[in-house]
Amino acid sequence: MAGISLTLNDIWGFRKSLPLPVRRAAGWVKRQVSPHWLWESKKFKAYFDFLQKSQWWSLEETKSFQLEQLQELVKFAYEKVPYYRRVYKEKKVHPSDIKKLEDIQLLPSITKDDVRSHIDEFIPDGVDKSTLRVWVTGGTSGIPLKVYQDLFYSCMIEEAFSLRQRLWTDYKQYDRKATLNRDPNKRTKKCWDFNNTENELILSSFDMTESNMLEFAHVIKDFKPRIMVGYPSALEVFGRFLIRNNITLPPLKGVFCGSEALFPGQRALIEAAYNCDMFPSYGMSERVADATECEKHCGYHISMEYGVFELLDENLEPITAPDVDGVVVGTGFHNNVMPLIRYQMFDIGTYSGETCSCGRSAPMIKEFKGRVREYFVGKSGKLMPLQLIWSGRHPVWSKIREMQFVQESEGEITAKIVRAPNYSDEEVTRELRSEVGKVMSEDDFRIDFQFVDHMALTHRGKLNFLDQKLPIHFEEIAKSGN
Ligand SMILES: [Zn+2]
Repeated sequence: MAGISLTLNDIWGFRKSLPLPVRRAAGWVKRQVSPHWLWESKKFKAYFDFLQKSQWWSLEETKSFQLEQLQELVKFAYEKVPYYRRVYKEKKVHPSDIKKLEDIQLLPSITKDDVRSHIDEFIPDGVDKSTLRVWVTGGTSGIPLKVYQDLFYSCMIEEAFSLRQRLWTDYKQYDRKATLNRDPNKRTKKCWDFNNTENELILSSFDMTESNMLEFAHVIKDFKPRIMVGYPSALEVFGRFLIRNNITLPPLKGVFCGSEALFPGQRALIEAAYNCDMFPSYGMSERVADATECEKHCGYHISMEYGVFELLDENLEPITAPDVDGVVVGTGFHNNVMPLIRYQMFDIGTYSGETCSCGRSAPMIKEFKGRVREYFVGKSGKLMPLQLIWSGRHPVWSKIREMQFVQESEGEITAKIVRAPNYSDEEVTRELRSEVGKVMSEDDFRIDFQFVDHMALTHRGKLNFLDQKLPIHFEEIAKSGN
C-alpha cells in the first residue's frame, strides 16, 4: 500500500508542479470533455435564464412574484415544519393571513438562539437529516450555528446570483478569475493552485506572507485574470502589499467581494491597488438575504428573487425611511430542507431611498454597517482575519453558548466562553485549543481560555465576537516582514 500511496502522491505533486500555461491548456481540454457539473446542468441554466430576465421586471412584477413565493413558503412551513406549525398555532397566525407582502409582519421573527435551541424542529417532516449538507455559520456577531441545506440546490442558487452580478461587467462564465478566499492546497503547501474546471487561479488567504504575496503577484501577471474575487480583509492585505511594492496587476474588469462588510476607506484602497471598480455583495451562510452592487455603484440592489429582505428597528418594527439604521431580517425562498422565515441577522443596514440609473427596479441598500472588520494580530505582527477561525465543523462549537475573543497585546488573546450545560471546562478548552490551533499557530498566538457566566452586549444587543483593543496598522505590520 505504501508504494501505491507514494505513486499517487508523486502524480499529484507532478501535476501541481507543471507550469501554469500547461495546466491551463490541460484545463481547457478537460472542460471540453467533462462539462462543469453545476454550470452545465439543465436546472442551473434554467434558473440562471430566469434571473437574467427577472432583473428587468418592474417593482410591481417582482413584488407579486415575492408574494406568491412567500405564500407558498408559509403554507409549506405550517404544514410540514414542526417549529413553525407549533409557533404559528400558538400565535394564532395561519398561512391564509398572508394576503399582501406586508403581512409578513404578522409572523414572529426568529433568532439564532431559536434555531439553535430547536434545530431538529426546523427540518420538515419526512426529510432525512443525514442526507443534507451541514453548513456552520460564523462571523463577527455570534457563535457558530449549524444550518442544513440541500447541496445541489444551495450551490445552484448561490452560484446563479453570484454569476448574475459578475456578468454586470463584461466577464463571461468561463473567463479567467482569481480568488483570494481559501486555502488552495493543504497537501502540497503551495500558496496558489489552478482549478481547471472553472478556469480559476486560487490564492491562499490563509498565509499571506511577503514572499507568498510576491508569488501571487507573479502568477497573476502570468494568468491575467479578468476579475478577482475575495474577502475584503484579504484583498486589502494584498492590496497594501501591491501599493507598498509599487506593483501593477494586469487590467481587471472588477474585484468582487462578500462575506464581510466593505468599509469606504478599505474600498478606496483596494480600488487604487487593483486599479478597477469593486462589486461588493451581501449574503450569509443561512441563505436568507442577498444584495449585490451593480455597475453603477450606487448601493446594493436587494435580490428580490432570493427572499424577502426587511430592516427592523430595536422594537422589531419595520423601517421604510432611508438613512435609518435597521437590523437585517431575512426570509429565504430557497432552503426547503431548513426554511428560515423572518430570521434576524446581527447586521445593520440602511435603505438608500434612491432608484438606480441602471434600470433595475430592485430597492437599494445604501450600506451595511455590521460585520465590523476584525483581525487578530500575531506575535510577529501578522494579521489573521477573524473569520478564518470558522473554517471547521468541529463539534466543540456546539458546546459553547457564547464566546468573545479579546486582544490587548500582540500574540496574546483571551477567549471568554459561556459554556453550554453538560460539558466540562477542561473538555471545551482541550477541543477548542486543538480546533483554533489549526489556523492560529502556537508560535504566533497564546490563547487564554476563561469561562464566564455571561457576556457584555452592545447597546444594540449585539455581541462583538472580537473585542480588538490594538490599533491595526497594515503598513507597520508589513514592514516588520510579514
Ligand atoms: Zn443598479
